[in-house]
Formats: sequence, C-alpha cells, structure tokens
Amino acid sequence: MTGRVDKKVGTLRGCASANIALAILLGSLCAGAGKALAQDSRTALPEGKHSIKPFHIFGNIYYVGLNDNTSYLITSPQGHILLDMTYESGVPHIRKNIESLGFNIKDIKYLINAHAHTDHVGGLAQFKELTGGKVFAMAEDVPAISGGGRTDHRNKDGKEQWRPVKVDEALKDNQTVSLGGNVLTAHLTPGHTKGCTTWTTTAEENGRKYNVVFVCSVGLSGIGINTGVTLLNNPKYPAMADDFAKSFKFLKTLPVEVFLASHGSFFSMAEKIQRAEKGGGAQVWVDPAGYKTYLDNAEKAYLAEIAAERASSR
Ligand SMILES: [Zn+2]
Repeated sequence: MTGRVDKKVGTLRGCASANIALAILLGSLCAGAGKALAQDSRTALPEGKHSIKPFHIFGNIYYVGLNDNTSYLITSPQGHILLDMTYESGVPHIRKNIESLGFNIKDIKYLINAHAHTDHVGGLAQFKELTGGKVFAMAEDVPAISGGGRTDHRNKDGKEQWRPVKVDEALKDNQTVSLGGNVLTAHLTPGHTKGCTTWTTTAEENGRKYNVVFVCSVGLSGIGINTGVTLLNNPKYPAMADDFAKSFKFLKTLPVEVFLASHGSFFSMAEKIQRAEKGGGAQVWVDPAGYKTYLDNAEKAYLAEIAAERASSR
C-alpha cells in the first residue's frame, strides 16, 4: 500500500489541492498539468503506469487499458467502440490488449473519450490512423482535442501535449452514439474539463440488463490555491466552480449499477479484479454504493477547495 501511495504522491507533485490526503484517496491525478509528465507521456509511459492483462468486465464491455488509465472496448458483430486510449505512448499497449482478447483493431468503428487530457486522448490521433474509426467528442472539448491540449485551462505554457486530431462529430449533451445494438449516451458533466463526458449504457449479464456508467471525472487534479490554477475566478474557465456543482447534482440522479470510470482508482479496479478472479465474476462490478462514495468524496474535496480559496482571498 505504501508503495502505491508513494507513486501517487509522485504524480501529484506541483498539483497540491486543498486536501492532498483526499486527493490521493480519490486518485486525483495531475494529468496534463506537469510539463515534464506531459512531454514524457508522448514517448514513454509515465512512472508508475504499465500495462495489465486485459479482461472481460460485463456484458460486451472489455477492459483494455493500463493499471489506472482506463480504456474500454464495447463490442458488437457490426463493429466496436473504443472509449479512451490513454497516452500516445500507451497506444502499443492498448493495441496489444485488444488483439490478445481476439479482437481486430480494424473492427473499431467509433472512437470516443471521457475528456481532453493526455492520459485519455493522447493516443487518439494514432488510433484514428490505425483503425480508420470515426472520432466523436463533446463540443466543449473539441478545441482542446483538435489543438493537442494547448487550450486546456491547466496548461500554463500553452504547449502541445498530444498529436492534434480532427474530430469528425461534435456531440451535444444527451446525444447518443449507436453501433450494432450498443447505445451509449454522452452526458456533459463539465468542471474537470469544459466538455467532460460521462457515458452511460446498458449491458446484459445472465439474462438481466444493468445500467452502466463510465464517469468522466469530478476530480480537482491540477487545481488548487498552491498551484496557481484556481477553481474560483479562473480567467481561463470562469464557470468552472458552477460547472462542477451542476455535474455533482446531475451525477447524483443517475441510476447506476455497474460503476466504471476514467481511472481505475475511482472505482477500486485493482481490488475488484482480484475479487472477480477469486470467483466473484462479473457481479463485482455492480457497485452503486461505491459510485455514491466516489461522488461524496469528490464533492467534499471540491467544497474544501472553495472554502480554502475564499479564506485565502480575505
Ligand atoms: Zn483528466
């Protein structure tokens, strides 16, 4: 456990929040905030990131991501949807994971994402080339994705963080993406980025349909009074605090059974993999209580940050 926490502290350098302990607990990584981290991630996986064995999660949803940065393959006989592809340097790992499960990357027709940060869309340009798939993204995140992350509100020097990629279709809140019987709904849950997208769908296991969520993120990674990137009065993103508040309110209304997200740490993935392997099977991913706890902890960190910023401005 100590080693794991140390690694997290390493990634949190320079992105201290109002409550570091809570940030670690939430796995609030500092994606896109650290210059060295962003540059390194283009050619090699950042420290502490590595490939894990891909596995079946639930219904026709498969895990093909890294140890924490998630990548999901949603399959059908008519073609597959890939949700997030991690870093530029993650592409060979994700590709290998998909192929080792017996799927052909040429069958990936749609490429979707959680949000415009390098650990989720860094590999998007390469995957578009490899698969010829159509790229969808929430309209509010299109400028960041197509500009290689230069416009992100946490990007202090405006440098490119990943290969720019042309988005084929800009999505609106509540729009669906459908392929081969899979219907995914894109919910705009902004704050972490302006177009942060929480996806929902249903998946069948043992003859019953379950509500599945892929939470974007409601983490404050990279934001905090100590980093100079503030939640309140942020000129690059004036509506950030209000957007987070709206997202918490909306996410609490979602009927969630299978809880998945853009980082494994948000939904205790490592621990659930062990339970699944020890006989728990697909049912370990059914975790409405874990979803609620994740939201409650993230909201506490958000409120603590607002209080800290207000106190410091007095
Ligand atoms: Zn992020």
